[in-house]
Amino acid sequence: MTAGKAAESRIRELTAEVRHHDYRYYVLDRPEISDEAYDALFRELRELEERHPELRLPDSPTQRVGAPPLDRFPTVEHAARMYSLDSDAREEGLRRFDERVRRGLGPDAEVTYVLEPKLDGASVELVYEDGLLVRASTRGDGTRGEGITENVRTIRSVPLRLRNDAADLPRLLAVRGEVIMHMDAFDRLNERLLESGREPFANPRNAAAGSLRQLDPTITASRPLHLFAYDVLAAEGVEFSHHQEVLQRLEGWGLSVNVQMRTATGVEEITAYHTELVEGRDDLGYEIDGLVIKLDDLAGREKLGATSRHPRWAFAYKFPPRREITRVLSILPSVGRTGKITPVAIMRPVELGGVTVSRATLHNREEVARKDIREGDRVRVQRAGDVIPQVVERIDEAGRERGDPFCMPDHCPSCGTELIERGPFSVCPNAFECPAQLVGRLTHFGSRDALDIEGLGEETARLLVGEGLVRALPDLFRVRAEELVPYEGFGPLSAEKLVDGIERGGKAELHRFIYAIGIPEVGTAVARALADHFGTIESLREADAEDLQAVEGIGPKMAEMIRAFFEEPRNSRLLDELLDGPIRLRSPTKTAHEAGAWSGKTVVFTGSMSDLTRREAKERAEALGARVTSSVSRETDLLVAGEGAGSKLDRARALEVEVWSEEDYRSFLDRSADGG
Ligand code: AMP
Ligand code: ZN
Repeated sequence: MTAGKAAESRIRELTAEVRHHDYRYYVLDRPEISDEAYDALFRELRELEERHPELRLPDSPTQRVGAPPLDRFPTVEHAARMYSLDSDAREEGLRRFDERVRRGLGPDAEVTYVLEPKLDGASVELVYEDGLLVRASTRGDGTRGEGITENVRTIRSVPLRLRNDAADLPRLLAVRGEVIMHMDAFDRLNERLLESGREPFANPRNAAAGSLRQLDPTITASRPLHLFAYDVLAAEGVEFSHHQEVLQRLEGWGLSVNVQMRTATGVEEITAYHTELVEGRDDLGYEIDGLVIKLDDLAGREKLGATSRHPRWAFAYKFPPRREITRVLSILPSVGRTGKITPVAIMRPVELGGVTVSRATLHNREEVARKDIREGDRVRVQRAGDVIPQVVERIDEAGRERGDPFCMPDHCPSCGTELIERGPFSVCPNAFECPAQLVGRLTHFGSRDALDIEGLGEETARLLVGEGLVRALPDLFRVRAEELVPYEGFGPLSAEKLVDGIERGGKAELHRFIYAIGIPEVGTAVARALADHFGTIESLREADAEDLQAVEGIGPKMAEMIRAFFEEPRNSRLLDELLDGPIRLRSPTKTAHEAGAWSGKTVVFTGSMSDLTRREAKERAEALGARVTSSVSRETDLLVAGEGAGSKLDRARALEVEVWSEEDYRSFLDRSADGG
């Protein structure tokens, strides 16, 4: 076989493999291989294609992104009319629909409906020719839409080629589906937009539609979208008799079909499912705004036909709205747990989809200004999924005298510190003392990747702050067990344990402490980089913007935030207090590594330890330069066996690997700490 032939068959193989894994991951949500293994396949394919561009297949998964931006979208004629749906939120409307269907089909007809959630996204048409995706378009006016083929290609749940393992491929297939954005992706996208001072999307539907209508496909590719297929608009070379069969086929061809599908034969079953979905809609992870009821029998559909706007065989039984109009009573600045000030609209209470709402977020001062919301205004509010309700827009009331524009305060409403501006946000810089921030700060301080203080969760933090035991961060180290005992949730033992945990937490490694103090934008990776670079907290505190930018991954913006954090006089004073008192930073990992008493050794831990957590035990071994693995082999130099050690201990003995008890390990650590 020539090199070219070998490349050709490998490209075929890899294309099929990557397509298969995309399907497992994005459609079935059941991946078979690790992300790393997937990345390796993808990389190999991309490299081969780069070397042999002529061998690249038209449906190559590497080609989901890559088309150049357009000037405008072409107009595309749909294969069949994309109808809208007759709809009503009242049961009465549903009853009338059911009666009309039965009247139209005749008294002897057996009626089966398929029930599907009404997905709140953007409707699209996909056209496949001989199994290959050739075109995608928006619904437009129902007859013609905008050609958004390149953008739809970036959606991973859209197969670029249909699978043919379950059914033969039709010569032509026009599919209708809904492109949606999951709630968590929507929240993250909006957070990103807000951070950069841009306007957030009002709801996931707008986010999905807006992302699809980007002239530059790379922007669409950066937005996590999903497509659910729910209908066939036209097909050649395949026949269907029932809608259920259509859905099964779509699934077999590798499209994502919504699993919340049911069947029903009458109104009672439909209302029961409607109720169930209304209650469960917040748990789906994406927005639905009703239940679509469709006649299963396609011959019956033919018989009923359509009006000029919608088919007579389908009906949308809507959910109670989650958008209502109300009035803003006042706008209050509220301090978040990281010091961000959010303007909150206090409103006349309204019911939004079964929940009474009286507060809604206005995000930041730029958003308030953009929407021009003032006290007394009439506004439209909305609740989407689990997110906090938001004010969508102001309703104009001609002739009404309006209040003054909202003005961000200069000082923190919780602690009185002068606010600083960070992008579109106003922020209280008083990180360790501001009462509004303290619960969140304490919780973060004690979290696993920070000082790992067992027992210091949010509930405990709330208690400590609420009962006045902690007024500023350093107070945490002054809490005594006796003070805790009277409170619910604490006994003498658990109180003692928390106090011990706090004390132990104070002997932290530098990178953990840096992360723990909660400098804006500084996560665990940056904290580690800072610790490695500066070595001591003192040199980090003295670093100027230029020093900071010498650290990998730190740009001018982050450097500025870090500097501002340490320069804030209150932060500086409280850090002094912490570092002169309870905090005893352990020598940074780097020097321990250099000491390297165990460098080159492979160590395994098993069983449970009484004094050390498993993670601590591991980290300390790593600090000495050891490689910690999870299974015992001939390569293992040492096994540290705690209480209840089992098979690993047996195996170590069989292989004559050195075995230590926890006791041995601790005294070794003590000795090596003393020695250097
Ligand atoms: P409307 O826009 O209120 O007329 O409702 C019709 C829209 O519902 C269609 O344009 C589709 O985008 C959308 N839709 C969402 N889920 C479904 C579904 N399962 N079946 C049919 N249409 C759906
Ligand atoms: Zn404050």
